[in-house]
Amino acid sequence: MKRKWNVLLIAALTAVFMTSCSRSPDSGGKSVKIAYLPITHALAVFEEAEELAAEDGLKIELVKYGSWPELLDALNANRVDGASVLIELAMKSKQEGIGIKAVALGHRDGNVVIVSNDIDSAADLKGKTFAIPHRQSSHNILLNDALATAGLTIDDVNVTELPPPEMPSALASKQIDGYCVAEPFGAMGVSLGVGKVLFDSKDLWRDSLCCGLVLTDKFIAEEPETARELVGRYKAAGNALDKEKAMEIAKKYLNQKEGVLDISLQWISYNDLEITEETYNALLERVKKYGLSENPPAYADFVKNDL
Ligand code: ZN
Repeated sequence: MKRKWNVLLIAALTAVFMTSCSRSPDSGGKSVKIAYLPITHALAVFEEAEELAAEDGLKIELVKYGSWPELLDALNANRVDGASVLIELAMKSKQEGIGIKAVALGHRDGNVVIVSNDIDSAADLKGKTFAIPHRQSSHNILLNDALATAGLTIDDVNVTELPPPEMPSALASKQIDGYCVAEPFGAMGVSLGVGKVLFDSKDLWRDSLCCGLVLTDKFIAEEPETARELVGRYKAAGNALDKEKAMEIAKKYLNQKEGVLDISLQWISYNDLEITEETYNALLERVKKYGLSENPPAYADFVKNDL
């Protein structure tokens, strides 16, 4: 009788072991869910996921979304542990009471103001229609900065929000006269010959912030060691992304032509992704000045560099 119970116990323990194995198939490694949109601005997350997939231990489960609102819904509801997301959208969520922290930049520089071929200066944008992906974006800020170079303001143009992949065709069909958006959609307009670069973000806003790697407070509190490893490896992955490696990762994760990616990757870099107080405060200043938010979160409340 005793022997029978032992057999049952072993069977039960085996079942428990198999179940735990099926949850963590890779050497018992923790899998962290990171949300993303298929843009070049998220390459550091893809590179980290690739590197970790080749090793034992920590893994990243990439969760793809089709739009920023869908991604934000998942992040704000804790359906993912973190996201590569427009930092202004994350700031807005934080302002509304969502428990998230920005732990690193998504990239450095990497945005352009694209205009139709008959526009030669910022002054020519007066009365024209200009597309941005979302009011809460550095693309909105860069449009404001571009207009300011000609003494214009946002009230001098018609601003429309469009999904990023629609912008190059909207420019081609003259529905809009220019746009600023996450890459590679600016490069796509250039590659198709429907538009040209009026400004590089570097010319308008030195050390501009755009996307950030954001983690939920829940994840940081429950898995502090994992969060620390994730962010450390993320920054290292960014530093590893030279032009050649970035192209390799972009080709694998983004369904885009090499010619488009080649143009786009000239504008961006992924090294040194720490969010400094100085660059964040320069963002806060612009967020307030251009009316994106009157009360954005302070550096100490929103940025976490001490994981
Ligand atoms: Zn970005």
